[in-house]
Amino acid sequence: MDLLHYFGNEPCSCGKVHTAAVEELIVEKGAIKKLPECIRKYQAKKVFLFADGNTWKAAGEAVAVILADNDISYSKYIFPNTALEPDEAAVGAAVMHFDHSCDMVIGIGSGVINDISKILSKTSKNPYIIVATAPSMDGYASATSSMSMDGLKVSLPSRCANVILGDIDILSQAPEHLLQAGLGDMIAKYVSICEWRIANIITGEYYCEEVAKLVRTALKKCVDNAEGLLKRDEDAIKAVFEGLVIGGIAMAYAGVSRPASGVEHYFSHIWDMRGLEFGTKVELHGIQCAVGTVLAARLYEQVKKRTPDKEKALQYAEEFDYSVWSGKLRKFLGKGADAMIALEAKEQKYDGEAHAKRLDIILDKWEDILAVMEEELLPAAEVEKLLDTIGAPKTPESIGIDPAIVPMTFQATKDIRDKYVLSRLAWDLGIIDELSVE
Ligand SMILES: [Zn+2]
Ligand SMILES: [Zn+2]
Repeated sequence: MDLLHYFGNEPCSCGKVHTAAVEELIVEKGAIKKLPECIRKYQAKKVFLFADGNTWKAAGEAVAVILADNDISYSKYIFPNTALEPDEAAVGAAVMHFDHSCDMVIGIGSGVINDISKILSKTSKNPYIIVATAPSMDGYASATSSMSMDGLKVSLPSRCANVILGDIDILSQAPEHLLQAGLGDMIAKYVSICEWRIANIITGEYYCEEVAKLVRTALKKCVDNAEGLLKRDEDAIKAVFEGLVIGGIAMAYAGVSRPASGVEHYFSHIWDMRGLEFGTKVELHGIQCAVGTVLAARLYEQVKKRTPDKEKALQYAEEFDYSVWSGKLRKFLGKGADAMIALEAKEQKYDGEAHAKRLDIILDKWEDILAVMEEELLPAAEVEKLLDTIGAPKTPESIGIDPAIVPMTFQATKDIRDKYVLSRLAWDLGIIDELSVE
């Protein structure tokens, strides 16, 4: 399947012409041997290698040998800190160590290294190749960097990799924890696709079935091969890596994050925010998203059993006091709540009229909404079984999150972005306080 030209230049049935920013995707055994060829394609004279201690050992040394053998000169910066945070200090160090005689950036790593390399590529205006070291998150094909800035979690516009190199020999050596995170970020897609369709029904938000199908197919491959992941079975590793790249490409195709992220990602986002503000424990993105997926699946099961009650919903919205709620948000998230409160000032999702309008659609389309949940979601027990298969954590407690904050985490997910997710549906129905979140 030619992923990068999946839709060609013709408009899709959704009306959009879907294009991906990635120019080349090479996923195979020994893929890094193709690096010189890729570099020459961009006519780079000297490349800048960026890695941390772990990723240098995992792939950097081999890359350096290949470059030397092919007379390609390079400079390098290897981050001394392997617990690298995606913050001002890390970006500053990367920029300060950058060799300006280089005309290409090559990131060797996954999450944070990729996020910072993308920024380095954007600021230095050089093309960028990522040599992936782990199938651990879906940022390989995205044009944003997930960073912490001024102590807040932000998604910064950066630059998408021109070339993604996924060498199966390297990826299959990734630490177990990163493999679990990768599959975790994939199973989140059950919820994201479900919510994309629900949002389309309730708010009329843009939706593309073709893009959703692409993600579903990739997800199925990951799940079908899950048993082999920890055995480092080639097909399992490849499925997860490609799935994650497809997640990123699907977001580029759709122009929104919908195909790859929903309320389960917001659970993770809230825990990240609290980590920055209060120093509470933070786990890998994909691990947190997997736990969020279990929680979301359980919540959906409860919502499915409810019959919408118009009077109750209207009364709940009427009695909702935003000043009390925003005070709670501030206490729960500290300064991170400011952006959420500013967003509501613009969005006015709690406005009575806006709510009544949404509620009418929900009541009218409830059967359709239920059908979407039925079609897209995996039962919570199945999600857990899948996580057991790969030995990944399933509960907030097992990743160091205090179970007492989980209900408030769910409540706060509706305020993160202007995006219709499960918590908003539960609020619209007036049942958000009644659902058990554990
Ligand atoms: Zn489309
Ligand atoms: Zn993700």
